[in-house]
Amino acid sequence: MSEQIHNVVIVGSGPAGCTAAIYAARAGLSPVLVEGMEPGGQLTTTPEIGNWPGAFEMPSGFDLMQKLQQHARDLGTVFISDKVEKSSLKGKVKSLTLSSGQELKSRTVIICTGAAARYLGLPSEEQYKGKGVSACATCDGFFFRNKTVAVIGGGSAAFVEAIYLCGLCSKVYLVHRREGFRSEQVLVDKFKQFAESGKAQFVLNATVDEIKGDGNKVTALRLKVPEGIKELEVDGVFVAIGHNPATEVFSELQCDEGGYLKTGFGPETATSLEGVFAAGDCADHVYRQAITSAGQGCKAALDVEHYLQG
Ligand code: NAP
Repeated sequence: MSEQIHNVVIVGSGPAGCTAAIYAARAGLSPVLVEGMEPGGQLTTTPEIGNWPGAFEMPSGFDLMQKLQQHARDLGTVFISDKVEKSSLKGKVKSLTLSSGQELKSRTVIICTGAAARYLGLPSEEQYKGKGVSACATCDGFFFRNKTVAVIGGGSAAFVEAIYLCGLCSKVYLVHRREGFRSEQVLVDKFKQFAESGKAQFVLNATVDEIKGDGNKVTALRLKVPEGIKELEVDGVFVAIGHNPATEVFSELQCDEGGYLKTGFGPETATSLEGVFAAGDCADHVYRQAITSAGQGCKAALDVEHYLQG
């Protein structure tokens, strides 16, 4: 495969990557898709997808991604289970080097690498990662059944995590640094219901000062609040304060100050280098929905088709 020059290599297997693959395959471009280390991306850890049009049975993110991947595979997309380590994107033929050492050459590349969970940056958070600190309730919530946990953040992700944990834990605190929420109101309202029943509690205007533990596991959260310092006894801390785009490996491309790939250099999904396109969360810090990522993946594949037609 290393000698071959592909029409299009897609990097990433979330909604953007899979949709790009479906469209590219149907256009006869024989796409190759490099899955990355978390096939399916962020969505695979979402317990329930309530806003994918038509999917009113609310599939899990994992199930939805399995279907999208299968769809792309059935149309002939070649999936490679590996990660891009190095890229050289200038010129007519692009080169991507994978962790295995394999080199992929392609006329075009669609980058759909998504974004990774952001952490608070406290040394104690680092110390207790995997020992009570997590950024994924669906992955780790199980370990905190009938225990007390705190979720940090005020966006939709924090509320989704907190609501999910209410079904498992004895008590869930939602700790947020101010009073207003970025989250969808419907999620806030659902969490409020748990708060009214005593199962959950808002802790607002509170910033995390330290995650305390006994060396082996988390025991408490030390918070800075307007009145001073406050401690919450907790067994687990779920950090849900947004994501960082996974774009470091594409350093030749122009990014904004947050590291998101800049697009719109000609066609909507075109990056700053000819023949390189981007879709989904790696290039979008505004919408960041599964459905908008899928839409951008579709646009990127159509932009590739036009580009290859000259
Ligand atoms: P987000 O909307 O950017 O929210 C991040 C939250 O973390 C904000 O409340 C922010 O506080 C807080 N935060 C950021 N840095 C912090 C720090 N250093 N310390 C303490 N708090 C900090 O991110 P998100 O919740 O991950 O959502 C991302 C996108 O995905 C959004 O567009 C969202 O709508 C979408 N999403 C949708 C669903 C759904 O089910 N519909 C689920 C998950 C995500 P401030 O508000 O004070 O800045």
